[in-house]
Amino acid sequence: MKELPVFIGGTWRQVEVGGAADVYNPSAGEVIARLPMCTAAEVDAAAQAAHAAFASWSRVPAVGRAAILFKYRALLEERFEELARLVTEENGKTFDEAKGDVKRGIEVVEFACGIAQLSKGESLPQVADHIDGLTMREPLGVCAGITPFNFPAMVPLWMFPLAIACGNTFILKPSEKVPLTAMRLAEIFESAGLPPGVFNVVHGGREVVDALCSHPLIASVSFVGSTAVAQHVYTLGTKNGKRVQAAGGAKNALIVMPDADPEPTIRAVMGAAFGCAGQRCMAGSLLMAVGDAAEPLKKRLLAAMDALKVGDTHADAKAEMGPVIDSAAKSRVREYIEKGVASGAELARDGRGQVPKRGFFVGPTLFDRVAPKMSLAQDEIFGPLLSMLRPKTLDEAIAWTNASPYGNGSSLFTGSGQAARQFTRDVQCGMLGVNVGVPAPMAFFAFSGWNRSFFGDLHVQGAEGVMFYTRQKVVLSRWDDQYRRQQGW
Ligand code: NAD
Repeated sequence: MKELPVFIGGTWRQVEVGGAADVYNPSAGEVIARLPMCTAAEVDAAAQAAHAAFASWSRVPAVGRAAILFKYRALLEERFEELARLVTEENGKTFDEAKGDVKRGIEVVEFACGIAQLSKGESLPQVADHIDGLTMREPLGVCAGITPFNFPAMVPLWMFPLAIACGNTFILKPSEKVPLTAMRLAEIFESAGLPPGVFNVVHGGREVVDALCSHPLIASVSFVGSTAVAQHVYTLGTKNGKRVQAAGGAKNALIVMPDADPEPTIRAVMGAAFGCAGQRCMAGSLLMAVGDAAEPLKKRLLAAMDALKVGDTHADAKAEMGPVIDSAAKSRVREYIEKGVASGAELARDGRGQVPKRGFFVGPTLFDRVAPKMSLAQDEIFGPLLSMLRPKTLDEAIAWTNASPYGNGSSLFTGSGQAARQFTRDVQCGMLGVNVGVPAPMAFFAFSGWNRSFFGDLHVQGAEGVMFYTRQKVVLSRWDDQYRRQQGW
């Protein structure tokens, strides 16, 4: 059994701690590695190493930091398929989905390569009498990142490349369910020439997370995961004086108007609902078929769901949908199917049958005639379960969408500019798609969740990411000997 090391101060080493966790290949349901559930002691060692490295790393000129990121980007491209295979192995998503996961992450490294331009300040000469004003952005110090299981490459890459490009040092705590990709990302960064201690990796769960949110040498915490933990991290981190950005869960609506183009709409709905087995924070899990859209949409959808090949993504390149992450996730989705039936919704397709016996599989599932108050419509289920609602009008669909406590994403499918305009103006969430099923912003835009999908002010990625990982100084200076002489100073 592979026992995973931590990476502290430029050294990979095994640690003796009380507990360990198993890492699975979810397609096979088999354990592939074991990791140490670290404690506050390992966090302290990582924080000390990162703090020591900050003194010199923060003084490396921006172009020098960018040079390492350019090298990192090239190495990630070289190792692209290897990384994607690792994502498939430990997460269970298909190889194509895994390639998307790595690609979207590499785009953040590309973005971070422009750090010299991105972190420039502003200036205004003669802001007052013989006084020049300028601003400059400086790194925070030691930054921490805590990531979820569903994007083993992309979500860690949302955080550390930009933080490190800004001149900070970093401690990553990847999901204990998918640590392998994150560790490979660290090894590759090291081989790009990153000095020891600039990037560190510790493993574990709540104990480590709480230590990261409390350690006095840690300046900021970036978190991505479920809403309950996001809120906990935000509360604990800010209580300890840290800058925190914490992205949480979601319940995203796909609204289909009767005038939507049927073929592209069905492809987009299938991708949004069942891509990554429904385990995306931007997954569409509520399908609102407006008025006459419902019957033809349901018919096409059921045909597409029947045709979707569910299988072992690690062994079978033709599998189009993989397993959920673990047996607890499988049980959770199955329980929601039972609850949905009990609540009176119509189980139009049951994903519990005809799936591989090994591994953590649930097939694509559709409930129809779901009422907005049912738990099927309210809760983040995070699996391949789509709930169909039948609003009479776009107004009603928007009102039901806005009743959700979350605010990550929503998409509208329509041929009408008027409907699109009403939707984009009136829906209360941060990432919207018009005829796009998964409106996840690319690296140069912030990942903009609202409401209970995000706690904090500055989101990950894009210009907000640069602002999050830097703080501003304003400098006013007067250097004018002639003026001083005139004033008699
Ligand atoms: P999770 O909240 O269970 O775990 C996320 C991280 O928090 C992990 O590193 C985990 O070790 C740690 N953690 C878990 N329980 C903890 C606790 N009680 N105290 C402290 N730390 C704890 O999330 P997950 O199941 O890994 O990921 C799925 C969730 O992430 C979904 O809710 C999904 O919507 C969300 N997500 C959100 C975004 C976004 O951008 N909003 C992106 C990806 C995933």
